[in-house]
Amino acid sequence: MSDDSVDVLVIGAGLCGLTITVTAARQGLRVRCLDDGRPAASRANFGQLHSGAVYAPVLPALSTACWEQRDRWHDLARPARCGEATGMALFHSADGVQRYLDAWQQIGIDASEVDPRGAGRFPPPAAAFRIPDYSVDLSVLNTRLVDLARSNGVPDVQRFTAVLRRDPDSGLASIASPAPQSRMVVLAAGASTPTLLSNAGIQHTLHNRRIAWGRQPGLAVDGVTYWLDGDLLAISPDRGGIRVGLPSVQDGYGTTAEEHARLREALDRHRLKPARQDLSLIWGTVCEPISLQADPSSLVVDLRQPPEGWTPTRNLLVALPGKWTTAWRCADQVIDALT
Ligand SMILES: Cc1cc2nc3c(=O)[nH]c(=O)nc-3n(C[C@H](O)[C@H](O)[C@H](O)COP(=O)(O)OP(=O)(O)OC[C@H]3O[C@@H](n4cnc5c(N)ncnc54)[C@H](O)[C@@H]3O)c2cc1C
Repeated sequence: MSDDSVDVLVIGAGLCGLTITVTAARQGLRVRCLDDGRPAASRANFGQLHSGAVYAPVLPALSTACWEQRDRWHDLARPARCGEATGMALFHSADGVQRYLDAWQQIGIDASEVDPRGAGRFPPPAAAFRIPDYSVDLSVLNTRLVDLARSNGVPDVQRFTAVLRRDPDSGLASIASPAPQSRMVVLAAGASTPTLLSNAGIQHTLHNRRIAWGRQPGLAVDGVTYWLDGDLLAISPDRGGIRVGLPSVQDGYGTTAEEHARLREALDRHRLKPARQDLSLIWGTVCEPISLQADPSSLVVDLRQPPEGWTPTRNLLVALPGKWTTAWRCADQVIDALT
């Protein structure tokens, strides 16, 4: 390999690719990161630094990973914060409360009960808890992570659309010039991952899922607010308004018009009547393993010893955090595999 070759080439400068880049540099590995500059999930998601509280009884592994990883974000995320440093978990009915209390206690999530009458302008909840979740401005967070990579000695992210190839004879993956040569390639390309792999002839067990959320100017909320029963409306402070989200219906989201209507109805139900009719819908995509058994907090596939359904490739790792909150965990797993 030439002198300008590196140990690790990371494809994708979303929050996952950047945390891997920083972690690799801190381990003394020579690392480069490249990105095609398209808007992706890390810049257009709901922006919540999860404590894990909202997932605790439903997805305990994800919840535990969020709880364990969130402190690693604080120095970066604090200047990016929108609204208060804590959020609220609200219940329409007392029936569902005990299930969450048990799960929070089991994981150790620090949620404290507060007087539901102080929960704001919503219909009065049956119970209210303060949870250690907050919302961030993602462009500030991404910029701070790029700066952190730079301060760890990593050259600036190279703007470049990578095409992944796999040589069937050698079983080696490569990215054509101007990408530097590298000992290992780490694919952290979010929703582009399945296409990049398929185009390189690499079998995988991933699929993409679309998710919609809304941005409503002219309304305000103090901090991240979740209704944990009923329609499960999520509300998050934004610059000049709020973000609103609903869970999928039967594992899917409808058309833009249907999702618009669903969000508008939910806002009405929760007495969040907008002054103007300017709710905008934002679509995002998550890439996930098809298997329901997979750990939803992060997926790192080492193609040197791939699981069933993946094509062996001698120098390729695939990294997908379930949530950006858990991206540092994903980065640790990548570095463990590399060192
Ligand atoms: C609607 C929605 C809401 C969410 N809300 C939250 C939340 O509130 N909290 C939370 O913790 N998580 C949330 N998530 C999950 C979170 O957004 C993702 O887990 C995380 O952003 C994924 O980061 P990533 O770096 O893996 O992927 P991405 O952010 O998609 O980054 C991949 C990067 O690779 C680049 N790329 C792709 N192909 C190529 C190529 N060929 N060459 C070069 N570059 C390439 C892309 O342009 C992109 O910059 C949400 C996700 C969605 C979709």
